[in-house]
Amino acid sequence: MTSNTSVLKKLIEQLSSRFDSSIIILGEDVSSKYHADWSGATPCAPPVLLRPKTTAQLSQIMALCFEQDQPVVIQGGLTGLAGGATPLSGEIAISLERMQGIESIDPLGMTVTALAGTPLQVIQEAADEHELSLPLDLGARGSCQIGGNVSTNAGGTEVIRYGMTRALVLGLEVVLADGTVVTAMNKLIKNNSGYDLKHLFIGSEGTLGIVTRVVLQLQPKARTTHTALCAVKDYDSVIKLLVALKRSLGSGLTGFELMWQSYYDKVLEVSSGLSSPFGHQFPFYLLLEYIDNDQELGADRFESVLYRQLESELLEDAMIAKSLQDAEMFWQIRDGIGELLQVLGPVSNQDVSLPIAEIGVFATELEQRLKAKYPDIAILLFGHIGDNNMHVCAYTGRDEDKTRISHDIMHLIGDYSGAITAEHGVGVLKRDYLSLSKSPTEIALMKTLKEAIDPKAILNRGRVFK
Ligand SMILES: Cc1cc2nc3c(=O)[nH]c(=O)nc-3n(C[C@H](O)[C@H](O)[C@H](O)COP(=O)(O)OP(=O)(O)OC[C@H]3O[C@@H](n4cnc5c(N)ncnc54)[C@H](O)[C@@H]3O)c2cc1C
Repeated sequence: MTSNTSVLKKLIEQLSSRFDSSIIILGEDVSSKYHADWSGATPCAPPVLLRPKTTAQLSQIMALCFEQDQPVVIQGGLTGLAGGATPLSGEIAISLERMQGIESIDPLGMTVTALAGTPLQVIQEAADEHELSLPLDLGARGSCQIGGNVSTNAGGTEVIRYGMTRALVLGLEVVLADGTVVTAMNKLIKNNSGYDLKHLFIGSEGTLGIVTRVVLQLQPKARTTHTALCAVKDYDSVIKLLVALKRSLGSGLTGFELMWQSYYDKVLEVSSGLSSPFGHQFPFYLLLEYIDNDQELGADRFESVLYRQLESELLEDAMIAKSLQDAEMFWQIRDGIGELLQVLGPVSNQDVSLPIAEIGVFATELEQRLKAKYPDIAILLFGHIGDNNMHVCAYTGRDEDKTRISHDIMHLIGDYSGAITAEHGVGVLKRDYLSLSKSPTEIALMKTLKEAIDPKAILNRGRVFK
């Protein structure tokens, strides 16, 4: 018996003496669901899966793991695209899935307090019942958990107006590597009493602590949402439109989603039941969303703003959704990436950030470089362009090209001083490229923080950096 196996055996004995079989699942009884997240990282069966129901149970689990130097991987809804929640060899998996539920909604302070394992959609629906809204939305809303959203600082489709998850979090409860429970359940908008420690845990991908409870700021629910699908002739017009729409629609502009023709056509090709509302093809398609509290005035304002942009020829064509079904269809085209990833085979699926003015040039150079190296490559581009964020989906159909293509894209991002990840995080899949986006002193300070908070490196070891 190796020392690792004997440590694990001892730990399992200790855990089994404290927790019943609903919390501790061993060996082959661990379903393959927990072997990998959505990222395509190589699946790995954890020897043990732990599913605590309370913070106190999780704290006890971590204290034992700390004592035995046992590495653990934290699992939320497993929709992450950076491989952070996929177990590495020998790691125990800790799932937050049973720590779910809304603890309270404060309609006056407009806050919600929820357990970290609560699916995002459940919180959205709970807020809705109080005429409130959580301005965080992503395609994985039904499966991803709020703790996962906080830990990855998730973006989504309303960042242009409300910011990323970080901007919505007021307070957190976190379990540290040694089992210490840090309670920082702040509900105040202004609170400068000392360090604002929540920011250490937001976006640190489970490397510094396990998020167990969250306080989020809600917003009044908009009375009406107006959606339009527009056609644009070139990237220059896209940028000019963004400036013009920000000026004319102000903070009501909540969605500015760009799809390059290659992406738009591919989604329509593979998705049954979706069709283009336009009679012609265009180089770019833009999905716009505008919220207003006055139904009639809002509709008039949106229509007249779009009309002006058609007259100025920044827009080639525009279809305003006349019904909820129209709006859903437009969003299904934008969200078609979920379906594409299921059918395209081996894909380099990248989520990167660049200054908005450089995205058009970057896209052209990326296509030229990749096509010169991989003549049969297909490249699909789309993204939350209003937030500098583009997604690149590139594939040749050959598995062996996937890593090489990703490598080429990451280095081009480095050449442009962009961010190697905009919203999905570093995880394991991008950790080798971190230095393309962070300075040596930033990385050194990140490591200092990790060593101070998790001195034995048992929490999500090897994620973000080695
Ligand atoms: C179809 C689809 C669309 C998506 N769209 C978007 C999008 O628009 N914007 C976006 O940002 N992302 C998007 N994603 C990626 C993903 O949904 C987000 O990263 C999400 O925030 C992950 O949440 P999760 O609960 O699934 O976390 P997991 O995948 O389980 O984990 C992600 C990381 O967080 C850590 N973690 C999870 N829970 C906790 C916790 N409670 N405490 C500490 N660490 C934890 C894990 O260890 C891992 O490192 C999309 C994914 C899919 C499949």
